[in-house]
Amino acid sequence: MKVYLSTDMEGTAGVVDWAQCVGDGPEAAAGRRLLLAEVNAAIDGAVAGGATEIVVNDSHSAMRNLPAGELGAHASYIAGSHKPLYMMQGLDDSFGACLFISYHGSIGAPAGMSHSYNPRAVVEVRLDGTVTGEAGINALVAAHYGVPVVLVTGDRCACEETAALIPDIHQAVVKEHVSRLAAHSLHPDRACALIRAQARAAVAAAGAASPPRLEPGVLEVFVRTTDIAEAASWVRGVERSGPRQLRIHGPDQLATYRSFCAAILLTRAVAEAV
Ligand SMILES: [Zn+2]
Repeated sequence: MKVYLSTDMEGTAGVVDWAQCVGDGPEAAAGRRLLLAEVNAAIDGAVAGGATEIVVNDSHSAMRNLPAGELGAHASYIAGSHKPLYMMQGLDDSFGACLFISYHGSIGAPAGMSHSYNPRAVVEVRLDGTVTGEAGINALVAAHYGVPVVLVTGDRCACEETAALIPDIHQAVVKEHVSRLAAHSLHPDRACALIRAQARAAVAAAGAASPPRLEPGVLEVFVRTTDIAEAASWVRGVERSGPRQLRIHGPDQLATYRSFCAAILLTRAVAEAV
C-alpha cells in the first residue's frame, strides 16, 4: 500500500516558538532534528502496518526542512516552494492512506503557534460550518481522491479539530498547550513511540477506513482586512460573502482547495503590507 505523509512542523514535541521552526538558526536546526525523528517514527509505524511505499510532502514554511537521505524506508521526498497542491502536493488516487504529521491548531485555537495557512491574513476558516485548521482544509484533497486520512499527530487542538471532521481518525497528541508560545511536551522519545504505534495501527486499519466525508465541502474564510478580501475575490471559485468574509466552493473538492491556495498566495503581499 502506498502511504502519503504531509508534514508540518509546529506540532512537534518540544517545538514551541518560531525560532525553533523558521530560519536557519541553531534552534531551527535542533527543531528540524526533532521533526525528522517524528516523521521517521510515522514512517516506521506505517511500514509495520503494511505500507510498501511512502511519499513525504514537506509542508512547512520553505518546505525543505528534512535531510532527504535520512528519511526511513527509502521514502521519497517532495520539497520546495511553489507546489501547485501546496501541503497536499503529490497525493492522488493511487494511495491507500494519508497521514498528517506535526500539525497544529487553527488560528483561533489556544494551540502553540496556531494559524490557518497565513496568520497575517486568515482569522478563521469553517468547512461546512465547522471551524477547522489546516488538516480539515487539506482533507478536501484526500476526499477528492478517495484516500482515507487515518492519522493526525501534533498538539491536542490539531488532533481534536481534525477528529471533529474525521471522527475515526487515529491520533497522537504529543503536547498540551500552555499558551500560543508555550506547551507541555512529551519527551521526544515518548512522542516518537506514540506516533510509531498510532501510525502502525492507522495504516493496518486503512483498508477498512473511508475517505473523509466532506460534503458539500464549502470553505468560509474570514480574513483580517477588507483589502485582503478584495484581492482574494479575484480568484476563480472565491466569492466575497461579506466585507471580510469569503465563500470558496469549486466544482469539486480539489478545485475548492486550489482556489483556497490561490487566494492565500495572492493575498500574501496584501496581508504583509498592512
Ligand atoms: Zn507549518
